[in-house]
Amino acid sequence: MSMGFSPWQQRAFERALASLDSGRLGHGLLVCGPAKLGKRALVDAIVARLLCQDASGAQPACGHCRACKLQQAGTHADAYRISFALNDKGEPRNVIVVEQIRDLGQKISLTAQLGGAIVSVIDPAEALNANAANALLKTLEEPQDGRYLILVSDTPYRLPATIRSRCQRIELRPPPLEEARAWLAGQGIDGSRIDEALALADGHPGAALALIEAQGLQLRRAVEKDLDALAQNRIALSETVKAWLDDRPAERLAHAAACVRDRGRLALLALLAQGSGEAFAELADWYDQANRVRAQLDTPLRSDLLLGELLLRWREVAAA
Ligand SMILES: [Zn+2]
Repeated sequence: MSMGFSPWQQRAFERALASLDSGRLGHGLLVCGPAKLGKRALVDAIVARLLCQDASGAQPACGHCRACKLQQAGTHADAYRISFALNDKGEPRNVIVVEQIRDLGQKISLTAQLGGAIVSVIDPAEALNANAANALLKTLEEPQDGRYLILVSDTPYRLPATIRSRCQRIELRPPPLEEARAWLAGQGIDGSRIDEALALADGHPGAALALIEAQGLQLRRAVEKDLDALAQNRIALSETVKAWLDDRPAERLAHAAACVRDRGRLALLALLAQGSGEAFAELADWYDQANRVRAQLDTPLRSDLLLGELLLRWREVAAA
């Protein structure tokens, strides 16, 4: 069965299959790595393989047995998925709570309904609150044959060390530059934009693709132009604040921060050459402030005031 995997997904999948084939696949797995590298598709392929009734050894799931069909339809009775549940008011929570883990523990202690493996996915695992993590630890400490727990996380360092140490890690990492280039070209991305997007995304091909798809390169150029115009007093602060708030403010602030981070690197190089650290420290401060304001956009604080203050500060930093 072809998964349409990127080379880095394929490598991780083959490592998992080889572990399974040699009887070394852990009952607790931690599938981790930065967002947008394809962790969920990798997890789906691992879940399918563990449930498949027809695959053996290092083969992927067959794709056509009863278990595979049920898994594809999302109705396999021995596949569980834990994520954000609704609270008493019917609103989604932003943590995974202990009741969910206890409930899961009961379900997976029963006999598999299709007679094969029982596979549970917890996603995003860093959302487990402290009690839920403790309850999960007990399950991880008592592995049972044919029971698999797969934790998925963009930020595995936010998981308790006790949990991490009991899981076998399957990590997706941004690939070497040449492979990232080739993959983006394979997605139909024009060669002239590939290097620019990869540079902006720190070599991360999934993030580079997302940037291109969201017209991110144009937005980044527009933001950079605004920062320069502000620094040179060529545009009014209030107009810029309004324009940014009207159109994708969080993305603009992320671009502004990234842009200043890149300039900070240049300033750092200049510092190494000349021995003056002020410019770098100012840029680093502004970078932090831009990220703070981005995080505050969704709070009741007045976005126009926050952004106004940030861009005013930019004018001072850039003038210095
Ligand atoms: Zn199958």
